[in-house]
Amino acid sequence: MAYLFPPRQPPCLTIVGSDVLFPVRKIFCIGLNYAEHTHEVGMVSDRGRPLFFQKSPEALVPQQNAEEVLTITYPPATKDYHYEAELVVVLHKGGRNLTPDQADECIFGYAIGLDMTRRDLQNLYREKSWPWDMAKNFDESAPVGVLYPRSILGNLGNAEVTLDVNGTRQQTGCLDQMVWSSSEMVSEISKLVKVSPGDIIFTGTPSGIGPVQRGDLMEVSIGKLGKMRVSIK
Ligand code: MN
Repeated sequence: MAYLFPPRQPPCLTIVGSDVLFPVRKIFCIGLNYAEHTHEVGMVSDRGRPLFFQKSPEALVPQQNAEEVLTITYPPATKDYHYEAELVVVLHKGGRNLTPDQADECIFGYAIGLDMTRRDLQNLYREKSWPWDMAKNFDESAPVGVLYPRSILGNLGNAEVTLDVNGTRQQTGCLDQMVWSSSEMVSEISKLVKVSPGDIIFTGTPSGIGPVQRGDLMEVSIGKLGKMRVSIK
């Protein structure tokens, strides 16, 4: 059968050192995964239950090469557009009810990501006990850098996560400050829904979140992953 209109191609990440692309399926995100950030948004940090949400694959803005400066558009319906610098974990295997060890084997590699957020909408929805969806999942809300396979990178260790806006440091954290580790996160998601090859996970942001304006340049760095630069138009 023909299609009424062309079906979309999956958004893809560029894999460092490879000619093949990584097709993205679901984008999972965790909230409140760094205690200091949890404190700065007035919440209490605990390991009782992880907070997950999703972005649509269509929200992805993938980097073609590590030097490319991505450009994203200041979104409508906000006056408080925030950055959140995050490690992104990328899966090439999946399953249900994975143990953390099994989940670890599903991790193909890592990338730098920005969980862009309409903070004023998020706060409004939180007040009203409405879903956050439109505060988190909107056009160009998920810039992601090139994908570094674990096979060439090794493990990240306790890498530092930083974000600068126009050359001024705004966020600093370390991966060992995460409440839920990457493999624990994948394990917890797999208890809720099936995880699959192509799924990627934004692993939460350290403290120091704040607004950006049109014309600003963000630079995120995470240890061996280097830097990703994103400008706002
Ligand atoms: Mn986030």
